[in-house]
Amino acid sequence: EAIKPEPPLLLSEGGFIAQGYHGGLDELRGLASESKRVIASLEDKYRRLSGIDRLKVKHNRVLGYFLETGLAQGDKLMRAPLNESFIHRQTMANNARFSTVELGELERKIDQAGNQALGIELALWEDLLGEVMGRGPAVLRMAAALAELDVASALADLAHRARQVRPKLDAGLAFHIAGGRHPVVEAALNENVGAFVANDCDLSADGDSRRLWLVTGPNMAGKSTFLRQNALIAILAQMGAFVPAQSAHIGIVDRLFSRVGAADDLARGRSTFMVEMVETAAILNQATARSLVILDEIGRGTATYDGLSIAWAALEHLHETNRCRALFATHYHELTALGAVLTGMANVTMRVREWQGDVIFLHEVVPGAADRSYGIQVAKLAGLPASVIARAQAVLTQLESQAATGRGTQMIDALPLFSAPPAIPEETADARISAALRTVNPDELSPKEALQIVYHLRGLLD
Ligand code: ADP
Repeated sequence: EAIKPEPPLLLSEGGFIAQGYHGGLDELRGLASESKRVIASLEDKYRRLSGIDRLKVKHNRVLGYFLETGLAQGDKLMRAPLNESFIHRQTMANNARFSTVELGELERKIDQAGNQALGIELALWEDLLGEVMGRGPAVLRMAAALAELDVASALADLAHRARQVRPKLDAGLAFHIAGGRHPVVEAALNENVGAFVANDCDLSADGDSRRLWLVTGPNMAGKSTFLRQNALIAILAQMGAFVPAQSAHIGIVDRLFSRVGAADDLARGRSTFMVEMVETAAILNQATARSLVILDEIGRGTATYDGLSIAWAALEHLHETNRCRALFATHYHELTALGAVLTGMANVTMRVREWQGDVIFLHEVVPGAADRSYGIQVAKLAGLPASVIARAQAVLTQLESQAATGRGTQMIDALPLFSAPPAIPEETADARISAALRTVNPDELSPKEALQIVYHLRGLLD
């Protein structure tokens, strides 16, 4: 009520208190508009007195109110008897300017009224500030209540529009999400309704469920999305929101741990790999049986065997020691072999289909392990030059033919959980002979060297 709907920007000029809020102020403002009428009548009076029609009352900052007329008529005002009433102030190129006693008085009155009005406005402003400050706690309480209402109503609106459900939360160790979706990825795909593929996730640590899911599948298949959507569902549920799923039953999570994305922290002297290890360490040291952990790849920033070994040991630790509910995405297919010995672990994979040499992502999480990485197909989708793709394919074929088949399974046999690693099995004679032969280049051998090699190989048989 006190402030005009569109007040001026500066307090110093006044004019911000609304009409009708303060009687004294309104009266002073009345004087200001009254003075306009007074000025008009003065103008009239001076025209009659001087007989000059073109005499005008004007105002500027330097002179205040003054009378202006052409130079010829101005002359007349400077001579007797008119010079008694009109006081010459300025001669300009085309005009002469005069003041009068009455104009001077009017000026003072108008100024005074303006100053008084401003004084009243500023005092009213101080009062208002005082009142607002005095009601600070109430205003803050109201703001907090409105904020809460805002969050609740926005979430309710979202729940309705985004087809979300009310989760069931209890003190158990369930984590059973049916038809879960990633709220952000889904919204991004939403031009195309139904484009997002919903997926189930059951990490419940009771009954027959397996609380640790090892998620394999090619790049771009949807592993990160799946991990993150389940973490987001847990957060939404525990903050009191509905969740993007068909149904969700979650035993309260004490902490959510995530290791996703590899960003380095070079400014603080940490490489990507170091950041990854620090985050992994925090998880392995702190996660409890009530925690939820999502791990999006570990061990990727180092040599393959180092990385695989760290991921392997971390997976065992999560399963045996932390015993938390966890989703673990990996490119190390060797790890899927652990499914055979870790009773709380399940292998799941992102379904893909191959079609005419390309890979099609179905974004569906199904039981099982990925058989291949499709890295080269994804690289092709990304636009690597055809020559690089062809060469990579050739290198891969070569590497695969050299690699021992079922390496993961062999490692399982070789590394039983929590036992001292057995002695490395003896090399067979065949392996020794082939290793020796691989170092030989027949084109460079002298007859004598060739004979020595035959003796050497024969010796390896014993
Ligand atoms: P990954 O981690 O396996 O490399 P992402 O989770 O990053 O794959 O997913 C790659 C892209 O695939 C996403 O940006 C999204 O556009 C799409 N996508 C992932 N999951 C789904 C899904 N369930 N339904 C539809 N599209 C999906």
